[in-house]
Amino acid sequence: MYKITLPEKDTPKKWYNIVADLPVELPASSQTKEGQQLENLPKIFSKYVLEQEMSQERWIDIPKEIRNVYKQVGRPTPLFRATGLEKYLDTPAKIYYKREDMSPVGSHKLNTAIAQAYYAKKAGAERLTTETGAGQWGSALSLACSLLGLECTVYMVNVSFKQKPYRKTVMHLYNGEVIPSPSDRTDFGRKILKEDPNHPGSLGIAISEAIEDALTDEKVFYTLGSVLNHVLLHQTVIGLEAKKQFELIDETPDVLVGCVGGGSNFGGAAFPFMKDKISGDLDCEFLAAEPSSCPTLTQGEYRYDYGDTAGLTPLMKMYTLGHDFVPPSVHAGGLRYHGMAPLVALLVNQGLIEGRTVNQTEIFKTGKIFANTEGVIPAPETCHAIKVGIDEALKCKKTGEEKNILISFSGHGLLDLQGYDDFIEGHLTQ
Ligand SMILES: *Cc1c(COP(=O)(O)O)cnc(C)c1O
Repeated sequence: MYKITLPEKDTPKKWYNIVADLPVELPASSQTKEGQQLENLPKIFSKYVLEQEMSQERWIDIPKEIRNVYKQVGRPTPLFRATGLEKYLDTPAKIYYKREDMSPVGSHKLNTAIAQAYYAKKAGAERLTTETGAGQWGSALSLACSLLGLECTVYMVNVSFKQKPYRKTVMHLYNGEVIPSPSDRTDFGRKILKEDPNHPGSLGIAISEAIEDALTDEKVFYTLGSVLNHVLLHQTVIGLEAKKQFELIDETPDVLVGCVGGGSNFGGAAFPFMKDKISGDLDCEFLAAEPSSCPTLTQGEYRYDYGDTAGLTPLMKMYTLGHDFVPPSVHAGGLRYHGMAPLVALLVNQGLIEGRTVNQTEIFKTGKIFANTEGVIPAPETCHAIKVGIDEALKCKKTGEEKNILISFSGHGLLDLQGYDDFIEGHLTQ
């Protein structure tokens, strides 16, 4: 069996909310010094996603309209067996990968973009604002807005804006407006530019700008592509489908690997399986792969911090490198974030998820091996997960164990060819 597919009718009807099954209570997001931030939330988010953000319900219905758009963009996605990679590694392990790269925008991010655009429109929004690092989230939200009839403004981290010009083209094709951040559109952007006109930008800064923009008009809502509970909730379609796909072949994963920026593809893939681990029905290891240059889980502190640089978000309890940390401009732009989803952070803190670091030269080597053996060119972010999956498969080679390894294949790398080219030409420094 090379690929396990599900019919359209098996597109999930409910999202899974792991908050209902956590081993300890999730620490609440808290009021900040100025006391303003929580009051701001209803101005920038629709009441529907705020309800989901706080919800304790285990299962949350996916509205029919959202399910239909999920199907329109290709859900359910297939689960592939990486037979070529297994052969290359000469491992007894079985490696599976859940293909979120097959979405039209090339990543998992459309799963929440569609849901957020739908709820914002239902709450009366005409335009959405957001930030984007590498450009995948901006592309996903631009497409979701286009499909659902909304305008979209994307603040794109300045270095990525320069490094990845074709991402801008994708967003423009989907009618998104793209502004390099820091920008002169907002007070916060102007302040940063005054201090350093060539500031490379960061996700934290772009978030601050997008929130400031959304606060100025009640028909404008803000959306976040990762980190928050409702985003991870929407992404559980990945794991729910994968679980069904494993049931079809009468197997379960022994190791589940995903890369983590803010934690959404990992959480989405992992939580439906984590449910069974918490209840004692599944014996599976959960591994979260992060870049060595932005080692949030492995070197960060578990404490309250802001989600953005300016401190406009509520304080969240998470692993953090500090909200003013500016990560180096690595090619895996989607993993350059100082914090981590509070839900993923809590499970790491409880010892149910383990963080692993991967460095930049390894990821492109990994991407090349994967392309050679499976045909798919992975996103640099996704390569982190594959690398950790390969490490596990090589351990199996030593021990002879036939483990099932599930990789959350978050996206393809066809818009990351500059990074691959730098690697092939030997221009990568770290
Ligand atoms: C955005 C992105 C990531 C990182 O974001 P998470 O919220 O941690 O999933 C990983 N892979 C790809 C392809 C992405 O686009």
